[in-house]
Amino acid sequence: QDVVNKIAAGEIIVAPEHALKELIENAVDAGSTSLEVVVKDGGLKLLQITDNGHGIDKEDLAILCERFTTSKLKAFEDLSSIGTYGFRGEALASISHIAHLSVTTRTKESSCAWRAHYSDGKLVSPKPGQSAEPKPIAGRGGTQITVEDLFYNVPSRRRAFRSASEEYAKILDMVARYAVHCAGVSFSCKKHGASTADISVPTAAGTLDRIRQIHKATVANELVTLNAENERWGFKCEGWISSANYSAKRTTLLLFINHRSVESSIIKKAVEQTYATFLPKGGRPFVYLSLDIEPARVDVNVHPTKREVHFLNEDEIIAIICDEIRNSLSKVDT
Ligand code: ADP
Ligand code: MG
Repeated sequence: QDVVNKIAAGEIIVAPEHALKELIENAVDAGSTSLEVVVKDGGLKLLQITDNGHGIDKEDLAILCERFTTSKLKAFEDLSSIGTYGFRGEALASISHIAHLSVTTRTKESSCAWRAHYSDGKLVSPKPGQSAEPKPIAGRGGTQITVEDLFYNVPSRRRAFRSASEEYAKILDMVARYAVHCAGVSFSCKKHGASTADISVPTAAGTLDRIRQIHKATVANELVTLNAENERWGFKCEGWISSANYSAKRTTLLLFINHRSVESSIIKKAVEQTYATFLPKGGRPFVYLSLDIEPARVDVNVHPTKREVHFLNEDEIIAIICDEIRNSLSKVDT
């Protein structure tokens, strides 16, 4: 059974940035306005995320890392919307099977914080001879999740990683995506022991400012807003896209569907084709898109390892967005 759990976990969490994505989404779901990430050895040694959200009740700590433990299902009237948000209640469980996981958390109602350690879905004692029960400690409101020695018991996975700096770059990319998207939330990300953060965005920064601080100013100065919506296809789209004056070697596509960072090679290709007639040969755009699609229309069968998302009337929706891009590119002339 344990082997099965480990394999299942290894399929959901394939790389450190996938674990981090789940932890960021949990922190955002908890209503946090501040999110701090600390990383050691590309996330393989340490991945720590501290938020100031609503915290976890002490009573829930015992089952926190059991599979399908979620406080979010009731929020989704329509069960088919689960697919949009990944497999419910599997993230922390999965991580506990392939890493040393500890949680420190404090709710508004609690007079102290509680710390708990997990392995294979269950509470464990941090040291031999100690109790596995959560321990009261001093601490502020919110939650700190510490993931250590990721894949320590999955040697094949560990061997697949080439360098810590490559993994750290992917982690920064993931934090950067959410830092752009989550207006009203401050983000920071740094290496363990470093005095300066590699990403740092204040709570008050608007979307354009966030892009300016994380990506180059040369991009930010060329961005225009994009808005599209269509009732028939049940979608709404907002974003910032580069004008015809901007051109890079590679496409930057920050794509969010229902507030989850996702990949879509179809959207990427369509966007690149739309830009091709406006940019010098080989030139590529910067595009940030936030799509809201009726949850029932988003593919429910997306496996967590396939970051690719599909939705109903994909072609029609993409056509509308690309029309909007074409409009704004032909309008802007400086
Ligand atoms: P899911 O997010 O699908 O519910 P997870 O395994 O990611 O499943 O998390 C399990 C549960 O743990 C969540 O439903 C939530 O109640 C709680 N939780 C996890 N992380 C946090 C956090 N940072 N702040 C508050 N609650 C959290
Ligand atoms: Mg989650």
